Amino acid sequence: MSALPAGGCRDLPVLRERGQREVFCGLTGIIWLHRKMQDAFFLVVGSRTCAHLLQSAAGVMIFAEPRFGTAILEEKDLAGLADAQTELDREVDRLLARRPDIRQLFLVGSCPSEVIKLDLAKAAERQSARHAPHVRVLNFSGSGIETTFTQGEDACLAAMVPVLPQTPARELLLVGALPDVVEDQALALLAAMGIAPVRVLPARRLGGMPAVGAHTVFALTQPFLADTREALLRRGARQIAAPFPFGEEGTTLWLRAVADEFGVPADLFESVTAAPRARARKAVAAQAETLRDRTLFFFPDSQLEVPLARFLARECGMRPLEVGTPYLHRDILGPDLDLLPQVPVLSEGQDVDRQLDRARAQRPDLTVCGLGLANPLEAEGLATKWAIELVFTPVHFYEQAGDLAGLFARPLRRRALLSPATALEAAE
Ligand code: SF4
Repeated sequence: MSALPAGGCRDLPVLRERGQREVFCGLTGIIWLHRKMQDAFFLVVGSRTCAHLLQSAAGVMIFAEPRFGTAILEEKDLAGLADAQTELDREVDRLLARRPDIRQLFLVGSCPSEVIKLDLAKAAERQSARHAPHVRVLNFSGSGIETTFTQGEDACLAAMVPVLPQTPARELLLVGALPDVVEDQALALLAAMGIAPVRVLPARRLGGMPAVGAHTVFALTQPFLADTREALLRRGARQIAAPFPFGEEGTTLWLRAVADEFGVPADLFESVTAAPRARARKAVAAQAETLRDRTLFFFPDSQLEVPLARFLARECGMRPLEVGTPYLHRDILGPDLDLLPQVPVLSEGQDVDRQLDRARAQRPDLTVCGLGLANPLEAEGLATKWAIELVFTPVHFYEQAGDLAGLFARPLRRRALLSPATALEAAE
């Protein structure tokens, strides 16, 4: 379908950049993680800046009591004049006494807590002993130092893996926080193929957390889970390598890799996937009208860039000019790199000014980037898509394939509507 040269990008030379970066920090992940884990609370140990970031990222529509908050480090904490561990204990005790619905508490590190070297692992251990078995307390870092925003989920899930119970059972584990409706669709497809038992990490509640062992096989649903993957491999689990389930093709190949692992007969696979595949193809085709032959430039941000470039190039006919990603984990992205038609530039890391120069020189039809870059680029006449929307919107598997393509088509349609030529045509 694509006019780009085929051949895959696995062996393509990578432009590695280590300059200034424009990304959100890992605290952002709390927004979707707290929705997913319904008995968890995320207590950020940070500054007022961290509290503001969370509040603005979460929006103002909090109807119930929120399940995240910030224990603010005051100046006396930062100056070492107060015992931050004692104060944290007091905050946690107060929170858990007031909120008996909390079964999992995450102490989330931030730039300020890391700068003053506040040992949250020790605090979590102490608090766990104090509040077990009703509450399990773990810690992870959402700090913005040298990270990108999807690493928050990775750090959270990686923190859970060592405390998952052991199992000798052969089980399939899906790894990644998907919206419930999407997760249910995936589970229904796997169940229809007779694959069981299937567990998910993270589970919606503490009681549903999976066990793991040498006979666990796992499939990632998000490409940014490098540390979680490592932690699972250390527990003896084995990964099923596959492209990520974006679009009709990605979903089919992901499901097929899982189905092959569990010996699902080809005719059963076909009968289960035929109808949703056809729906996905049709939905993507409708959006591809707008996307075909349009050029595309990815700034590194969500770590979804490679699988999305694969989807947009192969299923929507777009022409990626540069695919930038914060980290190029070949063990995770290999199957997507194999399918991605050769792109002019595959880059890892960022030197934002140099990358902006490249984008300006090429003037792509669509630029996928972080919020901080989108407005200036829009002002320069470039259509943009906020990468962060891709983790807040259901985009995985068949039923969302059309919506996923639509996320990229919308800014192009809007720009076409706003362009003077179109306005003139409409007036005539
Ligand atoms: S963790 Fe760091 S980057 Fe994130 S909001 Fe707090 S201070 Fe800012």
